[in-house]
Amino acid sequence: MAKVTHVPADDATCGWYHLAAPRTPRPAHVGTRSARWVVLGAGFTGLAAARQLATHFPDEEIVLIDAQAVGYGSSGRNAGFAIDLPHDIGADDYIGDIATAKMSLALNLKGQSILKDLVKQHQIDCQLRECGKYQAAIEGRGIAVLEAYRRGLDKLGQSYEVISQQDLPQHIGTAFYRQALFTPGTALIQPAALVRGLADSLPKNVTLYENTVITEVEYGTKTRLVHAGGAIVADKLVLTNNAFAMSFGFLKGRMLPIFTYGSLTRPLTEDEQARLGGKPYWGVIPADPFGTTLRRTVDNRILVRNSFSFNTDGRSDPKYLRRFIKRHHASFRERFPMLPQVNFEYTWGGSLSLSRNHMAHFGQLAPNVYGALCCNGLGVTRGTVTGTLLADWLAGESDHLTDFLLAAPGPSRNPPQPLLSAGVNMNLAWGQYRAGKES
Ligand SMILES: Cc1cc2nc3c(=O)[nH]c(=O)nc-3n(C[C@H](O)[C@H](O)[C@H](O)COP(=O)(O)OP(=O)(O)OC[C@H]3O[C@@H](n4cnc5c(N)ncnc54)[C@H](O)[C@@H]3O)c2cc1C
Repeated sequence: MAKVTHVPADDATCGWYHLAAPRTPRPAHVGTRSARWVVLGAGFTGLAAARQLATHFPDEEIVLIDAQAVGYGSSGRNAGFAIDLPHDIGADDYIGDIATAKMSLALNLKGQSILKDLVKQHQIDCQLRECGKYQAAIEGRGIAVLEAYRRGLDKLGQSYEVISQQDLPQHIGTAFYRQALFTPGTALIQPAALVRGLADSLPKNVTLYENTVITEVEYGTKTRLVHAGGAIVADKLVLTNNAFAMSFGFLKGRMLPIFTYGSLTRPLTEDEQARLGGKPYWGVIPADPFGTTLRRTVDNRILVRNSFSFNTDGRSDPKYLRRFIKRHHASFRERFPMLPQVNFEYTWGGSLSLSRNHMAHFGQLAPNVYGALCCNGLGVTRGTVTGTLLADWLAGESDHLTDFLLAAPGPSRNPPQPLLSAGVNMNLAWGQYRAGKES
């Protein structure tokens, strides 16, 4: 029996989680049971995998487990961009190899369409708006990124609109940015409300156990998963727990649990909304990956997301929240000088599971153990589609997208510690510094 080295511990201050409609989590598992299929991790990836397995195997029971309540983990604490377009930050034009970019686009669109269909079918109240996104720049380097990205989008045949500094306030209120690229395909969501709605509309043959922390694991012909209240024995285990899969012995030294941070203001008053101007809801992502993401939500709050930390154990650390709330305040004041009285009601952090080569794992990990892991910061659409396709593949179905995922090289190896922490922390500090006014 091997100890699970690190288990999740997210902070209790995520605005999306507290603002979503109240919900009682499903009870934790108690006792001992077995199941043909166990999916571990009830974020976007695990919810999609469990749902699709249930559809393929209507006479079998699918067990879905999470250490926390659904919506409390990263899937409920992100910025809520269900992104369609590929964005390869390793390529000069952010699109890179056109064949790969086309596959990436097809995967993201499929994930987005699965989510949109489920929202419609189950009437999930998650503020979904198909309003596109702005990618905005303030510094010369950022403008150059937008130019390169335009060339890439042309190559990919995707539409966009360039919005000048003069016109931007009619869109997003603030005159802070020098230019933005509007792309129409992104949808915005309230992430905690969406994942809770997905959990509450799972097929009948899925049993969900929340607040069930797996602390020990034994692999063999079956996998035994031990928690404080008992154990669950799986014929087939599907890991959808992102970087925590390393604590289960897989992809060790290949993923990076990097945290990023968000804050939400109180709702703007009518007078403040009038002073802000612009459209009633929108989302801005930064041209520089170390820059600031912004949203005006359907309920008239402003979201600010920026800053990163390398939390090697994948757990929240309060010192970073205290540090980064100051940066959120500074970013907000610079962008919204017309809203001097507006403060944040919530500030939180959450884990991105990144790899150095921006690759994910899809497929088998060991006999009877499978995984869709390492969404590289794009888990809303990518997690949904990879969870679904993994279930299809386990049911013996595959297509060109599955073949593409199976053939991908997977996350590359990290250097050993302490080199790794020194290198990542230096990169984060340098990236943050270089982002300048974009952050
Ligand atoms: C602030 C922030 C902003 C972001 N913005 C965006 C965005 O706008 N768009 C986008 O696409 N992505 C965004 N992301 C990334 C996105 O949230 C992730 O890619 C996504 O959540 C990955 O989904 P997942 O289901 O693969 O993993 P997760 O959501 O991490 O789910 C894994 C689950 O496994 C559970 N687990 C782990 N270990 C155990 C254990 N031992 N026992 C039981 N359960 C366990 C965890 O509790 C967790 O709920 C953002 C992330 C953050 C933090």
